[in-house]
Amino acid sequence: MQITGVTQYHLEHHLEEPFYPTWIPGYPQSTHELELFAVETDEDITGYAASPSFGGGLDYETPLEIFLVGEDPHNVEGILRKLDTINLVGPRPWHLEMALWDIIGKDAGKPVYELFGAEAGDVPVYASTGEVMDADARIEYVEERVAEGFEAVKLRVTEVDHVETVRAVREAFPDLTLMVDANKGWSVRVMEEEVTWSFADALSFARELDDIGGVAWLEEPLPRHDYDGYARLRDAVDVNVAGGEFNDGPHHFREFIDHGSLDVLQPDAALATGIRRAVDVARMAQAHGLEFVPHTWTNALGFAANLHVITAVGSPWCEYPMEPPWTPDVWSFMLEEGFAHDGGTIRAPDDPGLGVTIPDEVLEDAEG
Ligand SMILES: [Mg+2]
Repeated sequence: MQITGVTQYHLEHHLEEPFYPTWIPGYPQSTHELELFAVETDEDITGYAASPSFGGGLDYETPLEIFLVGEDPHNVEGILRKLDTINLVGPRPWHLEMALWDIIGKDAGKPVYELFGAEAGDVPVYASTGEVMDADARIEYVEERVAEGFEAVKLRVTEVDHVETVRAVREAFPDLTLMVDANKGWSVRVMEEEVTWSFADALSFARELDDIGGVAWLEEPLPRHDYDGYARLRDAVDVNVAGGEFNDGPHHFREFIDHGSLDVLQPDAALATGIRRAVDVARMAQAHGLEFVPHTWTNALGFAANLHVITAVGSPWCEYPMEPPWTPDVWSFMLEEGFAHDGGTIRAPDDPGLGVTIPDEVLEDAEG
């Protein structure tokens, strides 16, 4: 089998109202944009991949074709080495690798997780928020999630004072598992600079979480390459420390492990590692007694890729983006069937490959 071409589509979906994600400080996000890639083969099998996009996106179909046409898509290791090159001369390319697994699975008639020797099971989802809200609004949100069957919610904070929202939610829901994401690992600085935390800020915040209790992890309280800072923080507090969603290679996770930086490793197959290397990171984490809970917040194809990894290697939770107007229908708008949870759990699709279907109209609209 040979790759015969790559077609790039820029897709956009307008939100009903603006959304204010903590990772784009001050920015009203009014569209969901992605770059969708169809990797075509000489055996009539097409694999799909997607990357989050912004401001109309970058066009890199031609360089991808130069590197990928003529390759056998089953040669994942060889193609990853070519993607290493694209990473040097062009945009971050790791999402492309999910299309290879989509092709390999379709060719074999098996879902991706089965290619890694696993069977599907129900994975608990946690409701992942994206905005900072005052305590009353957040408690109302959590009431809705609990009614839907969620047993865990991840709250977003930007200021140290926001620990009071965490405390209020804890008091209203004594048994709910909470996660807290400070989003200090990276940010999209298009409008404003993000609020940064000193080590002392992170320490004081984490100690408050120790006092609140029942917090599964504190995520990204420090910049994403501050391996020593993470290690010092982890030594000083009880709450688990999580990170790594935008650390873009297994070597970064080796640094986290060597420095003793994290309790929970969160690579994202769509953003940073690809599926093959996410599985490697998960195995490395598990061998060191650490948890593996990947980041999934990009779009439904990225979610699918990470859900297959979770199913292949095991994870206590699957991140489920849920912050209206950023609902599953919005992050899955490009699929025939999105990713509904079932009373707080989800199961990887068992159709071949990634198990997702992109209707022709979606591609026709993008081309027009
Ligand atoms: Mg995060």
